[in-house]
Amino acid sequence: MAKRPTIARNVSSLRRALAPYRDAGQTIALVPTMGALHRGHLALVRQAQRRARRVVVSIFVNPTQFAPHEDFGSYPRRFETDIAALADAKIDLVWAPSASVMYPDGFATRLAPEGAAKAGLEDKFRPHFFGGVATVVAKLFTQVAPDFALFGQKDYQQLRVVTQMAKDLDLPLKVIGMPTVREKDGLALSSRNLYLSAGERSVAPLLYRVLKTCAARIKNGEKIEGVLDVGRREIDLAGFALDYLEARHALTLAPIASRREGPIRLLVAAKIGTTRLIDNLGV
Ligand code: AMP
Repeated sequence: MAKRPTIARNVSSLRRALAPYRDAGQTIALVPTMGALHRGHLALVRQAQRRARRVVVSIFVNPTQFAPHEDFGSYPRRFETDIAALADAKIDLVWAPSASVMYPDGFATRLAPEGAAKAGLEDKFRPHFFGGVATVVAKLFTQVAPDFALFGQKDYQQLRVVTQMAKDLDLPLKVIGMPTVREKDGLALSSRNLYLSAGERSVAPLLYRVLKTCAARIKNGEKIEGVLDVGRREIDLAGFALDYLEARHALTLAPIASRREGPIRLLVAAKIGTTRLIDNLGV
């Protein structure tokens, strides 16, 4: 049986577990997650192991990035299954604080990221989200003090916000974005896919198909707005409630009207039934 990782549950035991790594001059990579681990998370773990001698995986469902009407209460929690998967992946340290360890009584600080965090994408539909993400990720970065931190491009706007935050706060680490891991039919892996009914699951891959078609047509020189309009209609017709399908500058996430203005990222968010899915693709 694979060796169970050490599970640190408070900051002092985390520091105790990290001390020997630091004393030995070993590099450390952090993979932040909210648990319910899937192959996408495990791809980040494997890449982290290539980059650094030691890998810390954090599992923390962060209450401050959920609005009261969102799915914090029902978000999938599978701690023991996650630990078994991380043991198989040969992870030796898991950082799993409780909410009261992360946010003790009297906690009174919240980051307010701007720039990519105000692009009018996720932030428009989840106005509280990036403040919560930036705050918890800044805490994770200072708690673990890793040399590298790995994030998925699946959450593209989040990757841009976290990269900018680490730069703006002069945090001495490199944020690395990794490609989205997908099911065979193209659906991006997500812990929230567990919510999908069989019927919803069968339409869900349409989002990625639309992204691919739009990217190909834009690459062929068709006008961006026209291409996106067709894509939006297709998503509506399939029964999604579309939040957005947008073409943005891949780095700043500013609106972009033509390919000449820079590298383009297409980003989509839509609800199928009660489940909100997001995805994105480079052109
Ligand atoms: P989460 O547990 O959903 O907060 O995700 C933790 C990390 O895994 C984030 O950096 C996500 O972007 C990343 N991630 C989630 N889904 C995927 C996926 N399908 N492929 C690659 N990375 C992913």
